[in-house]
Amino acid sequence: MKPFLDVRDLTVHFPIRKGVLRRVVGAVRAVDGVSFAISKGETLGLVGESGCGKTTAGRSILRLVEPTGGSVHLDGIDLRSLSGRSLRSMRRRMQIVFQDPYGSLNPRLTVRSLLEEGLVIHRMGDAAARAERMRRALDRTGMPAAALDRYPHEFSGGQRQRIAIARALVLEPEFVVLDEPISALDVSIQAQVINLLADLRRDLGLTYLFISHDLSVVEYLSDRVAVMYLGRIVETATAGQLYATPLHPYTIALFSAVPTVDPAKRRSRIVLPGDVPSPARPPAGCRFHPRCPIAEAACREVDPPEVSLDGHRVHCHVAARELDACGGDERRASARMTSLVAATQNAGREGHRQP
Ligand code: SF4
Repeated sequence: MKPFLDVRDLTVHFPIRKGVLRRVVGAVRAVDGVSFAISKGETLGLVGESGCGKTTAGRSILRLVEPTGGSVHLDGIDLRSLSGRSLRSMRRRMQIVFQDPYGSLNPRLTVRSLLEEGLVIHRMGDAAARAERMRRALDRTGMPAAALDRYPHEFSGGQRQRIAIARALVLEPEFVVLDEPISALDVSIQAQVINLLADLRRDLGLTYLFISHDLSVVEYLSDRVAVMYLGRIVETATAGQLYATPLHPYTIALFSAVPTVDPAKRRSRIVLPGDVPSPARPPAGCRFHPRCPIAEAACREVDPPEVSLDGHRVHCHVAARELDACGGDERRASARMTSLVAATQNAGREGHRQP
């Protein structure tokens, strides 16, 4: 089946300029060859530490940040080839919900003006039809129609995010980028907004790219999950596969930090050494090698190719070898990878204890 969103080799490089003449002396490789596809009605979670490029990737798909390379097709339409009116009309079909409902809603505009702006730009109906659309969008997000004549500051954070979601919905989009939509909200409200997003997806058949650093929330909302590190995707799988059988050492380390009440799922915490390297000077070979507990000599030189098994894709030399050694049994390979990473970590701790 043809994917609804097809992203291939997407790159976003920001030039580094220096000197009086502002010469380009390098580039920050925020997104550096990212590929994934999303089917209609599906949710792909995009996870990784802050600064890994996930937000830039999401925004560049919508052309809010201009990509420097690669291709993006939505419903078969090449988004990078569009400009002017054709890009504007395509924008109606793809919307974004930003992280911060305090910053993303103009405090000087009423909710009516905020919601109506897009409808006017896209010439969607007369005043009466627009009012009806706005009321419907608010109703879908659990907000009363009376909110239309109030200002954003009159609402709580959760209500503001509902208004931001209504602003996206009022244009009847098919694809929505959710850029950390709950991370600025109180924990008590996060679950309500996540349930709302899940209901909207079911009722309206929406397709989501859900960007988050919160792995437990991503698992709940996503059908598949892609893990990003330093501008690249290192592992992709269904949410079930990834959470039960992570293969990449970075994914294993991320999951080890997720709190769980289930003792059977509890993993010993793996602390990665060092910081994420600068995307202006990504390491050669595997980009994760300076922090990888099980890096080998080859990892410093050779960029690991993608290995795919039943839709579970991973970029790691050792994971590829373990999968091979386990005859393609990803459960066993994941267990072996997890114990390899944990053993190296424990050995490191023991070493530190020695005088
Ligand atoms: Fe670690 Fe090497 Fe795998 Fe990269 S390729 S994640 S450095 S083991």
